[in-house]
Amino acid sequence: MMNNEFDLIKKYFTFPNNRDDVLLSGGDDCASVVVADDQQLMITADTLISGVHFPEQTSAADIAYKAVMVNLSDLAAMGARPAWLTLAITLPVIDDSWLSEFSHTLQQLLNRFNISLIGGDTTKGPLSITIQAMGLCAKGKLLQRTQAKVGDSIFVTGFMGDAAIGLMALQNDLPDAELKNCIERLNRPEARVNFAQELVSYSTCAIDISDGLVADLGHVINASACGSQINLSAIPLSPGVKFYFEHYTDGAIDWSTVLATGDDYELCFTVNKSNIEKVKILAENHQLQLTYIGEVTNSAELVFVDANNIPVSFDGSGYKHF
Ligand code: ADP
Ligand code: MG
Repeated sequence: MMNNEFDLIKKYFTFPNNRDDVLLSGGDDCASVVVADDQQLMITADTLISGVHFPEQTSAADIAYKAVMVNLSDLAAMGARPAWLTLAITLPVIDDSWLSEFSHTLQQLLNRFNISLIGGDTTKGPLSITIQAMGLCAKGKLLQRTQAKVGDSIFVTGFMGDAAIGLMALQNDLPDAELKNCIERLNRPEARVNFAQELVSYSTCAIDISDGLVADLGHVINASACGSQINLSAIPLSPGVKFYFEHYTDGAIDWSTVLATGDDYELCFTVNKSNIEKVKILAENHQLQLTYIGEVTNSAELVFVDANNIPVSFDGSGYKHF
């Protein structure tokens, strides 16, 4: 039986250190790390709140997985190599089986990506997990939203809309085996960490798709002061997403669900035509699906067109916290 939060931290949030650039971790008021002179420190944080970012019945293992991956996805979006995490966790009760499941999955990911958990905070209240992830880029060699250039081609990794359909399947208790993979993608997104670190050699601009392509590509074109034209017929849809629209709707793809719901954590990035072949080879090396979806334009608008090049409009507003 644990007496206090310090026993809890020791038991569930203390792991062997994976890195020799950690000077201080766990136990003092701050952690301390070393950043080499030729490296640039990249920092991001994301909070997951029960009932908002994951359904309340989500397992501790899936929550840990997602909490880490959404942060690693932000690092990947800028081409950074993950190095350190902090974890601020708010727990309603001390539930040993929940904590050991959470801790086990966390440790697996720390090991898989060679990351050290260097500190955090532990409090009591409604379940909420905030992870801060820190990573490294070679100085100036990163992917930024501001760097899309007119005439670049736009690519995405993976499939669009899986997480949205997975959430729909969970909320409506849809029993189909065909939808299991969408639920898996909702609970266990895969940050494109390794691919992104090499992508910095062939691209300057990327974003991770956390809020849906409409919102996230919108951020890119605003930041880069350009526009884009996207071919809806090129948007990569998984068998699960196609199954959903064939069996639960009139068969037409609801683009608002696929492109404005989010949680896919795939990468969207721009590539100068001279680098397209290299990026294709890179994706193949990482066994990652890569799809050309459109072009960066000088129109200052995000335009979606059908297979006949006719503009298509749909509600792209997506989820808003406030
Ligand atoms: P303080 O009161 O000085 O902020 P805390 O009591 O919050 O310190 O935490 C004690 C130590 O345990 C600190 O080094 C802190 O970084 C670490 N720690 C607390 N919670 C966590 C957690 N969830 N995961 C990892 N380390 C944690
Ligand atoms: Mg504290």
